Amino acid sequence: MPHTKEQKKIYNASPKGKKSSKICRWREQGIIDSDFDDLYNYVLGETNCMICDKKYKNSQDRQVDHDHDDGTVRYICCRKCNTTILSEKTRTDNTSGHTGISYDKRSDRHVVEWRVDGVRNYRCFKSKDDAIEFNKNKR
Ligand SMILES: [Zn+2]
Repeated sequence: MPHTKEQKKIYNASPKGKKSSKICRWREQGIIDSDFDDLYNYVLGETNCMICDKKYKNSQDRQVDHDHDDGTVRYICCRKCNTTILSEKTRTDNTSGHTGISYDKRSDRHVVEWRVDGVRNYRCFKSKDDAIEFNKNKR
């Protein structure tokens, strides 16, 4: 572990330091995962938002969306989607067992929502037919 201020600076800028501070932040946010190393590699490998499909501008733009009830990761998405689309959905969707397809204007996506053991799940599709097909088959 680094001791001096200078050592700490070097450590924080290293890949190992960046990783540990990111994981530390996730834990603070309440994210629960069985393998944070694996999650980190997975998140780093994502280049485009899972919801609007736009390329991430930088590492701050790439955000991890998690379920506030149980801490599990739902999405890797851009800051815009994380703060607008998903938070609006979370606010309006408070009926357990709610399921269905909704259209999101902002991202031009059809969003399929369903619950598994009380956990909210989302999947976004460009085509409405794909969303309908997925909605049928997931049951
Ligand atoms: Zn997005």
